[in-house]
Amino acid sequence: MASNITSGALEHMSSFLIEQRSWLETKWENYYNWMDNDILATGFLLLTVHELAYFGRSFPFMILDMIPAMRKYKIQDNRPPTYKQYLECLRSVMLAHVFVEAVPIFGFHFVCDFFNISYRAPFPSLWTMFYQLAIFFLLEDTWHYWGHRLLHTRYLYKNVHKQHHKYAAPFGLTAEYAHPVEVAFTGVGTVGSPLLVASIVGEVHLLTVMIWITLRLFQAIDSHSGYEFPFSLHHFFPLWAGSDHHDDHHHYFVGNFSSSFRHWDYFLGTETPATTRRRDFKLNPFEKRHEIVEDPDDLADKKSAEKATAPAADSTTYAQTTGSN
Ligand SMILES: [Zn+2]
Ligand SMILES: [Zn+2]
Repeated sequence: MASNITSGALEHMSSFLIEQRSWLETKWENYYNWMDNDILATGFLLLTVHELAYFGRSFPFMILDMIPAMRKYKIQDNRPPTYKQYLECLRSVMLAHVFVEAVPIFGFHFVCDFFNISYRAPFPSLWTMFYQLAIFFLLEDTWHYWGHRLLHTRYLYKNVHKQHHKYAAPFGLTAEYAHPVEVAFTGVGTVGSPLLVASIVGEVHLLTVMIWITLRLFQAIDSHSGYEFPFSLHHFFPLWAGSDHHDDHHHYFVGNFSSSFRHWDYFLGTETPATTRRRDFKLNPFEKRHEIVEDPDDLADKKSAEKATAPAADSTTYAQTTGSN
């Protein structure tokens, strides 16, 4: 009886999704025909999806930041973002969107042609889209993990990645607050994953790429939001990183290098001690993290400055003790 009801519901759902898909296919075709320029049609589609996903996902978190009652869900509740920080971050992100991301977005149509990514109807099956999205997530996470470790080497940290670490208590909008080189580098992982699948397996569609970019932006904004809710995904899917994982990266400046998942940091021993402690001792995942940690790069600079001034101090002492000039 129960299985009849379940199979009936599944059939109903699948026919509903097929109906929606063919409706969307018609709209999609009409749009390309109306634009009468496939390069611009693809460019505007990607630009709209990117802007809507980025600002549509980060603004609700901005509103939450203004509601004192929501502070109890903020991991670093002692450091709420200020308006000045929001404005500065918004300005930088907008500049990156115009000067770093717009060119590849409007050039993406040529990439589609080169890698045989379809951009006209029909769409691939839901199963094809689903398994490809899962592969994109795994590939991007791997790229991000190793690339992020590279960005934490002394030279690249100081000259490129340090900008992203300006906010030790991140908020949603900071997801893309980074040096232009880092924005481009991260973009290679996001766009490169579908391109790799397209060149090996084929059958990738622009719609799947658009869904992927949306989900990847949601992941990045969520993990920077600084909010830990009882319904946060990692409570149900423990491999998922979420803000619980990435907030520690910003707080301690090292460790937890991956983006979406936890396996690389777990197996390679690069978790922050706080993340390991919470998991191993099954501690409260909602614990607040209040201590202020200084950027190790700043500490190293201070030490070098102290060392540089030390010999002068020594010679003064020597001069004083010997009575010489
Ligand atoms: Zn980092
Ligand atoms: Zn970050």
